Amino acid sequence: MGGNFCIKCGRSNTQLFKGLCRECFLKEYKPLEVPERIEVEVCPHCNAQLINGKWTGRGIPEDEIIYRALENNIIKKVEDIIIDLEILQKRGTISSCLVRAEAKILGEKITQDFYTEVRLKKRACPYCSRYKSGYYEAVIQLRADERSLELEEIKKAEQLINKTLQKSWGKDKLAYLAKKTRQKEGADYYIGSYKAAKRVITALREEFGGIVGESPKLMGRDKSTGKNIYRIWISFKLPKFKEGDFISYKGRTGLIKAMDSHGILFYDLDRQEMSTVLWREYQRIERIATPADIKKTTVTAISPSRIQILDPISYEPIDLKLKPGMENLKIGDQVSVIQINNKTYILG
Ligand SMILES: [Zn+2]
Ligand SMILES: [Zn+2]
Repeated sequence: MGGNFCIKCGRSNTQLFKGLCRECFLKEYKPLEVPERIEVEVCPHCNAQLINGKWTGRGIPEDEIIYRALENNIIKKVEDIIIDLEILQKRGTISSCLVRAEAKILGEKITQDFYTEVRLKKRACPYCSRYKSGYYEAVIQLRADERSLELEEIKKAEQLINKTLQKSWGKDKLAYLAKKTRQKEGADYYIGSYKAAKRVITALREEFGGIVGESPKLMGRDKSTGKNIYRIWISFKLPKFKEGDFISYKGRTGLIKAMDSHGILFYDLDRQEMSTVLWREYQRIERIATPADIKKTTVTAISPSRIQILDPISYEPIDLKLKPGMENLKIGDQVSVIQINNKTYILG
């Protein structure tokens, strides 16, 4: 049988694999296809990569991007294969890499090395381009109703804004603060996406309670789509009162204990019980005193049903009904009182 020889080394009388002897076949066999050069488009700001026309991943370390690029561009020719990846050297945006393959061919373990280059082409992703251009969809106007904001409130609000945006950033690529401006009455926060702004509002309401209003503003028209471009202004007003303030609501007098997104929890000073009022009733609530209005005075007489104290301003004696919780007071004790609408309440 003529022609039974290896076309590479000429050895004859041997089993051939694709025209080669076993030795030459193993030498020639490529268990992997590795391109000489791999290019990846990477956003220099957020490290997102352009894969199949889509920007994916964020904040991924550069080495990880290189390894992923290698994995995505290697074609395996056999099933039974172990691949080892190594970055040998980095020069700027070009990384020289080694791909080592261990495979079993014809029952024999072979190791082959492939060398390739991964080039990172830096290009800002559409989200970072928007961020850089100052793009925003919503503005949160932080204010306080009928008073000015306190520095502490602004600080607390900004912590919440940053925390919420950071938490959303993985999912919502426009969850960023584009700009912040301070006004005499408060502060404005320009947020990349309306969705993220809504999340921020939810977080703020949970912390402070407060009143929210929205108004879209027409900014112009998109030349390419012909659609109107709107931005949403969200007014977020902290209530005129704070925890510890005294309020009047439907003829009741209360001391505010807590506030959240649902309503206001107050202690009714006449009924001596806790009560809640919802935010939709806000306009009917009046702030009538603050902790600064609390005064100290002295107990001058006490009986099983009555208590007498001195008016903290006129020092005239005031006779009040002894209420639960006052049983342990003694003559000469100092008590805190608040005077509202000619009524005096002992706070304890
Ligand atoms: Zn041969
Ligand atoms: Zn980006």
